[in-house]
Amino acid sequence: MPDRYAILQELGLTPVWRLRGRPANVGSDRVELEAEVAVATVAPALSDRAARIARLRWEDFAKDVSACAACALCKTRQKAVPGVGDPHAEWLFIGEAPGAEEDAKGEPFVGQAGRLLDNMLAALGMRRGENVYIANVLKCRPPGNRTPTPLESESCRPYLDRQIALIEPKLIVALGKSAATTLLNVDASIASLRGRLHRYGGVPLIVTYHPAYLLRNLPDKAKAWEDLCLARATMRALRSGGDLQSSAVAPK
Ligand code: URA
Repeated sequence: MPDRYAILQELGLTPVWRLRGRPANVGSDRVELEAEVAVATVAPALSDRAARIARLRWEDFAKDVSACAACALCKTRQKAVPGVGDPHAEWLFIGEAPGAEEDAKGEPFVGQAGRLLDNMLAALGMRRGENVYIANVLKCRPPGNRTPTPLESESCRPYLDRQIALIEPKLIVALGKSAATTLLNVDASIASLRGRLHRYGGVPLIVTYHPAYLLRNLPDKAKAWEDLCLARATMRALRSGGDLQSSAVAPK
């Protein structure tokens, strides 16, 4: 019988990646071989997809998202929700995932939380669509508005990364724990993340509460306002080429 490496080579699935410190000929049973074949088959497919999305043009972006079937959410969505706004905005606001109203309309933040987000923008002297782009980590609604799974977030990440590359925002505002922890790849509370400057792929990022959370926790609106003031000060510093760190002072 041919050895495992020969079989994998025959299938075009070499080189084989091994865990460090693991001898080459240990544990050559069938289950292990099947697992390696599965990983080797899926991994190039995922990176091909990510590479293709990384080359998408704006004019093809929404159509591509609407045709996406990379995770199971495509089966339950009514409409995909790619994002909305100025395609070259300085400000990029990122939420978690579409809810029922967004799923029906195909536009992010159109429900009650969206109205609060519009008010937050107005407080900064901004309007939806004018120098602002609004997107979500997930482009499709999780059933029952449950929290996105890590796999769903990872499947959707190439789209978010492409949006950021196309928009080239000066500043990202992460709305809520789910967006913040996904973007920053940390497991932390909003309380510990807000009040300072982070970066996502080199782009300055500020964390604040999700508008839906603020609707249920009115006293925290004051903290969200502090975050928006920090974001505004950071944007001013970015526009003037000033010192970012000194604008990113933790609010009292
Ligand atoms: N909540 C989000 O995170 N995004 C939306 O688009 C709507 C509600």
